[in-house]
Amino acid sequence: MIETHAHIYDDAFDEDRTQMLERAFESGITQIWMPNCDHTTIDGMMALATQYPNVCRPMIGLHPTYVKADFEQELYIVENWLHKMTTSTNHPISIDAISTDGSSVPQFVAIGEIGMDLYWDKTFVEQQKQAFLIQCDLAIKHHLWIDIHCRNAFWEVVELIEKVGNSRLTGIFHCFTGTLEEAQKAIDLGFKLGIGGVATFKNGGLDKVLPYIDMKHIVLETDSPYLAPVPYRGKRNEVAYVPLIAQRVADLMQVSVEVLASQTTANALSLLSYT
Ligand SMILES: [Zn+2]
Repeated sequence: MIETHAHIYDDAFDEDRTQMLERAFESGITQIWMPNCDHTTIDGMMALATQYPNVCRPMIGLHPTYVKADFEQELYIVENWLHKMTTSTNHPISIDAISTDGSSVPQFVAIGEIGMDLYWDKTFVEQQKQAFLIQCDLAIKHHLWIDIHCRNAFWEVVELIEKVGNSRLTGIFHCFTGTLEEAQKAIDLGFKLGIGGVATFKNGGLDKVLPYIDMKHIVLETDSPYLAPVPYRGKRNEVAYVPLIAQRVADLMQVSVEVLASQTTANALSLLSYT
């Protein structure tokens, strides 16, 4: 299975990162996609991407809760990284490149995580919109998909995607916890729904959504170290818990966990062949 969204570079894993990754691989995870937050998270993420080529795979982007007055400087850093990476290889995202000395050069799998967050702070709402639009253009330009974080801002993000108006813009609504209507809208826009630990919560609401949509529209994620699934709710989340989420999603969709696992893996891989 592919873990499509985990902050494994987070300092919550500083004590036992190697063991945490071992547990993940033992649980059946073959790739871990890492969303970026801002310039401070890039080095730790790239170190893991270099250490585990084609397995721990980086995204690049500016997270909406990190959008402040200086967001243009942050986006300049994002753009620099994109230029550095996509000029070093002919195939931008399918596999990591090999440099002349034989070492692996990680390629970004997506622009992420980007979007809007109106839950914590609305001070920089206009800047969040601008940063999102600029990063959508970067995704189109560099043939990448986008990993969307939206909290209390689903329809605002939809409006921005429609404003971009480019059918090549695709990706994942990460940590999707919306209504069936919102799920349908995301699917109509050509996006997949990233389903995580909230699916296992009693009042998570996904029991009113997942049974009514096609399995081909969903991918799995933990968002670790946040949002641990039951029975670890409230504790540190980790990649090895993806099978707990898969089991719950399979139950809600009334398929076997094997079928769910292979379909969601195919869904995730289809994003990497996006050109
Ligand atoms: Zn995240």
